[in-house]
Amino acid sequence: MENTANQFPQSAVIALQDITLHGALDRATSAADGRRRNLIGELPHAQELRQQGRGSRLRGLHDLPELLEELEANVTAAGGTVLWASDAAEANQHVLALCRQHNLKRGVKSKSMVTEEIGLIAALEAAGIEMIETDLGEYIVQISGDHPSHIIMPAMHMTREQIRDLFVDKLEMPYTDNAEEMTAFIRACLRQEYLDADFGMSGGNFLIAETGTVVIVTNEGNGRLSTGVPPVHIAVVGIEKVIPSWEDFATLIQMLPRSATGQRMSVYTSAFTGPAHDGEPDGPRHFYLILVDNGRSGIYASEYAEALACIRCGACLNACPVYQSVGGHAYGWVYPGPIGAIVTPLLKGAENAAPLPFASTLCGACQSACPVDIHIPDMLLRLRRDLRHVQEPLLQLSMKGYGFAFSHPLLYQLGGKAASAASRALARAENPDDADGPIHALPGYPLSGWTQSRDFPPLAAESFHDWWRKHRS
Ligand code: SF4
Repeated sequence: MENTANQFPQSAVIALQDITLHGALDRATSAADGRRRNLIGELPHAQELRQQGRGSRLRGLHDLPELLEELEANVTAAGGTVLWASDAAEANQHVLALCRQHNLKRGVKSKSMVTEEIGLIAALEAAGIEMIETDLGEYIVQISGDHPSHIIMPAMHMTREQIRDLFVDKLEMPYTDNAEEMTAFIRACLRQEYLDADFGMSGGNFLIAETGTVVIVTNEGNGRLSTGVPPVHIAVVGIEKVIPSWEDFATLIQMLPRSATGQRMSVYTSAFTGPAHDGEPDGPRHFYLILVDNGRSGIYASEYAEALACIRCGACLNACPVYQSVGGHAYGWVYPGPIGAIVTPLLKGAENAAPLPFASTLCGACQSACPVDIHIPDMLLRLRRDLRHVQEPLLQLSMKGYGFAFSHPLLYQLGGKAASAASRALARAENPDDADGPIHALPGYPLSGWTQSRDFPPLAAESFHDWWRKHRS
């Protein structure tokens, strides 16, 4: 997928004017965030569990090199093959080589963000290999020639009516507005694809080092069918997904579905340890695990290593006021929302995603929603600091001015008094008799532009410093 993250400001303006997009985002994010809050709220020890989950992920990251070696040994012992990919090109080359080796022409795939990241489908198509997405949201996005806009709900940006029209247009679905009928139609379309496929592909929500197991968590059963029916299963997973043990999994699986889809449990939790063994009637005859680095080692060695603890639940997206307003496509690459604003500059290079760390109000809703308590606002601030050199000259100058004023108390106090006087002279109450209090506007362009959609209450006549001096006794 092409990276257009540097166009975030322009893309956001376009997204903000799209009323249909707003409706779709508003319904989906508020429903998902509400369900998450309810189900996390019912846990008697939610905060303790959250910290336990954080501990599991951080321990996994701390021992990452050793755990990856343990994982490889156990996958191999179970009859599977581990392949290492330092970047996207190498990961795609591994898949293409396996396709040649086993004469694979047609595949089915369950949802995986890392395969989006490496541009796998485009690489397969270029080699004449067909790959069908089987997650309903991914399938919608694939047949519409679009890209996912959310980590968990790829077609979140589309309304039911848009999806209906797409199915009628592209798949000749009999006209219906009923979501269950639409889903049943797609189910029937996809069922034959599993049976016809030469190979199945998946990502992995977790890699369990102690047994060499890939775990995927789905609601549609497509993950199990994609990986269990065809004779070859290729799993492509980021190296950071490894966790030490099933005990760690037991903690994390209590948080993932609650945070991702607002469910106590996802409908399917499927675990694969190698291929089908002798005497087992079902399952793939060949199992390959491609472990993708693609910039993760660089993050691991940096002060942002904690970003790798993400379990890709999408809760921070649903809780973020910026994501709620502009949706995922505005972020310009595979990973949107608050965690995307961290991961994209780290994976693609800060100069190729410079606006993203600024696409946040730093309200902290993302960290509060995060089931593993990733310190997202803190990392966004540090990335802003690292990106000082690529900021616009006017912003750099104003930040230097702020820095100077904040480090000189007298200047700060004089500036505060001047700002207070100016704001009281300029701000005009537009509705002085309103029972909820007046809304204030500023006169003259460009100041009036700022208050077109915002209140500008004048600063208090008395500063806190002055008040404190009077009252401290
Ligand atoms: S940063 Fe936290 S909330 Fe956001 S996707 Fe990752 S685990 Fe979920």
